[in-house]
Amino acid sequence: MKIAVIGGGVAGLSTAYYIQKNIKADVDIYEKSSDIGGLAGVFELEGKLLEKYYHHVFTHDKYLMELIREIKMEDMLIWKKTKMGYYCNGVSYPFASPLDILRFKPLSFFNRLRLGASSFLISKYKYSDELENITAEEFLIRYAGKEGWEKFWKPMMKIKFGDNYNRIPAVWIWERIVQRVRSRTGGGKDEVLGYMEGSFYTLLKKFVDIVEKNGAKLYLNSGLDEIIVEGGVCKGIIVNNEKKLYDYVVFTPALQHFVDVCKNAPEDYIKPLRVVKYDCSMIMVMILKEKLSDFYWLNVSDDEIPFGGLIEHTNFIPKEVYGGKVILYFSKYLNVNSKYLSMTEDEVKNIYVEHLRKIYPDFKEDLIEKCYIFKDRYAQPIWPMNYSKIKPAYKTPIKNLYMANTSQIYPNDRGINFSIKLGKEVVETMVKDISSK
Ligand SMILES: Cc1cc2nc3c(=O)[nH]c(=O)nc-3n(C[C@H](O)[C@H](O)[C@H](O)COP(=O)(O)OP(=O)(O)OC[C@H]3O[C@@H](n4cnc5c(N)ncnc54)[C@H](O)[C@@H]3O)c2cc1C
Repeated sequence: MKIAVIGGGVAGLSTAYYIQKNIKADVDIYEKSSDIGGLAGVFELEGKLLEKYYHHVFTHDKYLMELIREIKMEDMLIWKKTKMGYYCNGVSYPFASPLDILRFKPLSFFNRLRLGASSFLISKYKYSDELENITAEEFLIRYAGKEGWEKFWKPMMKIKFGDNYNRIPAVWIWERIVQRVRSRTGGGKDEVLGYMEGSFYTLLKKFVDIVEKNGAKLYLNSGLDEIIVEGGVCKGIIVNNEKKLYDYVVFTPALQHFVDVCKNAPEDYIKPLRVVKYDCSMIMVMILKEKLSDFYWLNVSDDEIPFGGLIEHTNFIPKEVYGGKVILYFSKYLNVNSKYLSMTEDEVKNIYVEHLRKIYPDFKEDLIEKCYIFKDRYAQPIWPMNYSKIKPAYKTPIKNLYMANTSQIYPNDRGINFSIKLGKEVVETMVKDISSK
C-alpha cells in the first residue's frame, strides 16, 4: 500500500509518524518549500535555529506531551514561569496573576473583580449549542461586563483576529479559557510555559529521522499541483508536472490550498469550505544589542500602535544561547489587503520603531543589529458562526482522500498540540476505513 502525505508541517509529519505506527504502508511526504516546519519553521541566527513565528507550549498540551513521552524527548523541554504584561494608556501592567488583575488600574475596582471572576465562571460553563450561535463579544460582555470587554477583552480579541475580532464564535474563547484555567491546577497557581532546546525544529527533525528510518521518503520543493480524482476516487497526485499514483492521500495544508488543488471535488462539498477565511501573519524579528524589558510577553492594546504584541524571547531562553543577542518578536495578524504586507522591511521597521518608542521612550535605534520579516498567508483560520455544522471531516467525500488541517482544529486554538491531534485522528479514521474493507 502506498500513501502520500501532503505538507511537511507539524500535521503532515505527525500524520506520517502515526501512519507508520498503525498502517503497513510506504509513506511519501511532499512539502512545497525548501524545508520542513510550515508555521513552526525556523531560520538560522548565530548558528542556532529560531522559529520564524514565536512559539511556546503549555503543560496542558495533551497530544504533544503524549507524543514527546513516546519518542523520549521529555528532557528537551524547558519549562519556565515567564513575565506577562499588558500595555494600555501608556503603561505596561504586569498581567499574570489574580493579584495583577486587582491592580489593573484601567478598570474600576468592581470590574477588576468581575474580570478576575469571569475566567473562573466561564470555565464552569457547560458546553451548549449557544456557544456556536453567539459571538465571543456577547459572551464576554455577559461575564466581564461592558467595561471589561472594552478595556481588556476587545483589545485581546483584536490582537488575535484583527478586524474580525467581533465575528468569532463564543465557543472559541470558552474553550481557550477552560483549557487555561485547567492548566493552573490549584486555583491561582502560576502558569509555566515550555520551549524546546534548540527550537521546535528539534521535534520536527526527530519526526523526520523516525519516519525516514522506517522507510518514508520526504520530497522538499515539491508543491502539489493537483489531486487526481477519477470517478469519485482519489488515484494520486500531480507534483512538479509528474503524475504519481497512490492508494491513499492525506492533505494537511490550509483549506484554501485544498480548494485550489482538488479540482474535481464535488461543488456541493467545496462551496461551504470557501466560507472559511484566513488571516495573514506578519512577524518582525528584531535582533538587539541590549535587553528591552523584563517581560517575555507584552500584549499591546493601543489602536494606534500597529503591532499587537512584543515577545522578548531572550527573557525565556537566555541570550547567551544566541551569542549574547537579544531577540524581540513583533506580532501582527493582518487582513490580506493590509498595506503592511506590501511594505519593504525598512518601511515596516521605521514605523515599528516609532511606535516602540511610545512604549519604551528611551529606545535607541542603534541598538538594532538586524531585522527579519516573515509572512504567512494562511496563518489563522477565521471561522464563521455555527462552523461545527460545516467543519470538514477527516474523510472527504472523495474515496481514499483525507484532509487534516488547521481549519479542523475548531473550536480549539491552532497550535503544535492540535496539529499533532490532527495527525493522530486522521490516521485513526483511515485505520477504521481500511480495516472495514
Ligand atoms: C505567529 C504565530 C505564532 C504561533 N505561536 C504558537 C505557539 O506559541 N505555540 C503553538 O503550539 N503554536 C503556535 N503557532 C501555531 C503553529 O505554528 C501551527 O498551528 C502549526 O505549526 C500548524 O502546523 P500544520 O502542519 O497544521 O500547518 P502548516 O504549518 O501551515 O503546514 C502546512 C505545510 O504544507 C505546505 N504546503 C502548502 N501548500 C502545499 C502544497 N500545495 N503542496 C505541498 N505542501 C504544501 C506548507 O509549506 C507547510 O509546510 C503559531 C503560529 C503563528 C503564525
